[in-house]
Amino acid sequence: MAGLVHGPMAGPDLYCRLMRRLCQVSIAAFLCHAIASAQAGRTPATVAEPLALVNANVINVHDGRIVTNATIVLRGGRIESVGAGAAPTGVKVLDLKGKYVLPGLIDAHTHADNFAAFRRALESGVTTVRSAGVSNYADVGFNTLVKNGVVAGPNVLTAGYHVRPQLAQEAFLSDPSYADLMAGVTTIERMRRAVQMNLSHGVDWIKILATERAGTADTDPRKQVYSEEEIRAIVQEAATRNVPVEAHAHGDEGAMAAVKAGVRSIEHGTYLSDATLEEMKQRGAYLDPTYTTVIDLTDAGGDYDLPALRIRGEHMLPRLRDTVIRAHKLGVMIVTGSDTGYGPNSVTRIGQEIANFVGMGFRPLDAIQSATIRSAEMLRLEKSIGAVEIGFEADLIAVEKNPLETITTIQDPVLVISNGRIGLDRLNFAR
Ligand SMILES: [Zn+2]
Repeated sequence: MAGLVHGPMAGPDLYCRLMRRLCQVSIAAFLCHAIASAQAGRTPATVAEPLALVNANVINVHDGRIVTNATIVLRGGRIESVGAGAAPTGVKVLDLKGKYVLPGLIDAHTHADNFAAFRRALESGVTTVRSAGVSNYADVGFNTLVKNGVVAGPNVLTAGYHVRPQLAQEAFLSDPSYADLMAGVTTIERMRRAVQMNLSHGVDWIKILATERAGTADTDPRKQVYSEEEIRAIVQEAATRNVPVEAHAHGDEGAMAAVKAGVRSIEHGTYLSDATLEEMKQRGAYLDPTYTTVIDLTDAGGDYDLPALRIRGEHMLPRLRDTVIRAHKLGVMIVTGSDTGYGPNSVTRIGQEIANFVGMGFRPLDAIQSATIRSAEMLRLEKSIGAVEIGFEADLIAVEKNPLETITTIQDPVLVISNGRIGLDRLNFAR
């Protein structure tokens, strides 16, 4: 459909009349409608074709039980049925030959902002992402295309511009009426306006900077940026549209301020104290440690490849590891975020984050839950994504081995389906 959306040279009326005459079938009317919608500046909604997956071992991510030799029927972008029985007639069938099916993974922290990046995320098994800030509302635009069925996904929980003392300048190209914020988002009034600017684009989340960044050589990630009072104002402003707040925080004071101010998630959390973790547990705040990206800081190549950051990463990594282990023991809810933009050099994936959690003592099922039901709860989408259940979105991956026994298999999905659309099919290459 995408080609038609961009392509037609003739006016919609002429095109439609021609097609109606050529073939009086519903598909022509549908195409006419699609073309007319596209030319009227609207995106046509398209629905995925029905699919049946047979001979699947389906993992229940709530309790780890496996339904063997199951048939999963996907229709209209939803899971229609899961269980025994043959595929319905007239439906495309994929034989999984005993491969293991899991819900699509959730990346709760990404900076993906272009088609190729979102496709890399999808091909890694990610069917839902939460944006942690991009320019030009690329997250909002991409998600609209996904919702309308123009591209396969992942779905995006959008955040627009990261609210911080210096907003990315591109913000003022989209919203010149907010140019007063160029002087710095440094007063409560301007913080509220920065939130309003994002809300006016329909974002699902507000992202804020509670401490300095780690990925730049001249900032100290332990330094607090906004006070509790300031963050509370941001949280209140976002709440006017029922929008939650995600807070970038490495340092403990900034993180504690953010948690007390009512943010829903702490991103990174490298230097968190037990007191802050306790506060998070009490308030039901989530920890999104983005551990794998800190490994990338310490390694050559990838998203980060500066000697100064390599040294920083070497002292951050054991601290973050210690924080994740303590958080997990305390019972803080932990989710998976990549913190990558899925650029061509990126080496960070959610499958690795899951495997790294297991390396820190999580049971494989716990680590899988972080990337599925736990992240879905954080996104308030636990009734529609994060599990292979009837009525849920048709977001699935298949892997070769049982991930509850061999967790690294999750890093290499052989089938990815998002909203009922096949995003990756390497079943033929699988053993
Ligand atoms: Zn980030």
